Amino acid sequence: MERKCNSEKDNIVRNGESIVMVDMRGKAWSVRGPIDPTELGATLTHEHLFCDGTTYFQLPQQANQRALATSPVTLENLAWVRFHPYENMDNLRLSDEELMVEETSRFKNAGGSTIVDATSNGVGRNPEGLKRISTRTGLTVIAGSGYYVSSTHPQGMGSKTVHDIRSEIVRDVQVGIQDTGIRAGLIGEIGTTFPWGANEEKSLQAAGQAQVETGAPLQVHPGRNPTHPGMILDVLEKESADLRHVAICHVERTLGDLSQFRSVLDRGAYVEFDNFGQSWFAFPGHKMEWPFPSDSSRVFRIKELIEAGYADQVLVSMDIDSKILLYHYGGQGFDHILANIAPLMQSVIGTEYTQRILVGNPRRFLTFS
Ligand SMILES: [Zn+2]
Repeated sequence: MERKCNSEKDNIVRNGESIVMVDMRGKAWSVRGPIDPTELGATLTHEHLFCDGTTYFQLPQQANQRALATSPVTLENLAWVRFHPYENMDNLRLSDEELMVEETSRFKNAGGSTIVDATSNGVGRNPEGLKRISTRTGLTVIAGSGYYVSSTHPQGMGSKTVHDIRSEIVRDVQVGIQDTGIRAGLIGEIGTTFPWGANEEKSLQAAGQAQVETGAPLQVHPGRNPTHPGMILDVLEKESADLRHVAICHVERTLGDLSQFRSVLDRGAYVEFDNFGQSWFAFPGHKMEWPFPSDSSRVFRIKELIEAGYADQVLVSMDIDSKILLYHYGGQGFDHILANIAPLMQSVIGTEYTQRILVGNPRRFLTFS
């Protein structure tokens, strides 16, 4: 079934190309096409099967730090990289398709079914690679769209208008990414920093408009400040985006107490605990205001949110974006949530809520409206 755009303006997409809008409602959209949401199964809503963090990498000046930054990840430097994950270039490159087939198969073998690749423009998005991995593993894989944080924006981002960026996203979702014919099933992760620059705000406005146009789920990576998610929701609301179809990512490092969580949840958005398996967070120059939570404290926070009535607004994932989080490099791998966290969740919040968080909430979030 196909539906026409709302207006003539909406029908003009990128370089004057005209597209007929496809009705995507009621389905989730994977790299292999539409899928009935009831078939999504246990889902990781925020991972990166391909990722290139070197696009925002700045080589240090000092020779010894430079050597650490440019060494491959080995057993000898693994402990150092674990405490400085964003200071080693090799760590930030996920590009080995064979290895990724092996790593994601462990999630499949543990009973997993769907992985959302939240890699957006500028950080190594690879739709054709995602499709091959999906075909080889049998997993459902959903691709992202839009722009990540400003340090990864392409040259010329300053001269793009909100309408330009919106059109790019709508095309990714409605027609396909570049010339692959592979559709994005997610708008995101849209990158923002605190305080944000004009280009990030523009990219967020465009993402909100594209969500209105396409009905796609929207994920936003907030800056490291508890007030930032509220500012993000303000911008999206102004663009008439459906906040019940928006997820705020990385909440464990962004929101510190129940009242801060409520400020997002009361507006209808999802909170995504997507750093499971990671126990370390430190960025040069960033002042931490509360301890970075362990996996068990994340689960107890989720319990608190369930007791406060927000059970349907919680998503969980691991944000695997670097080598050290893979089995091959001594990490927890893609099956960590199903193998290790689900039993913990069952004992703390019970089987029904565990199932809702692993299956029901992602299903609702990923279904186009
Ligand atoms: Zn992120």
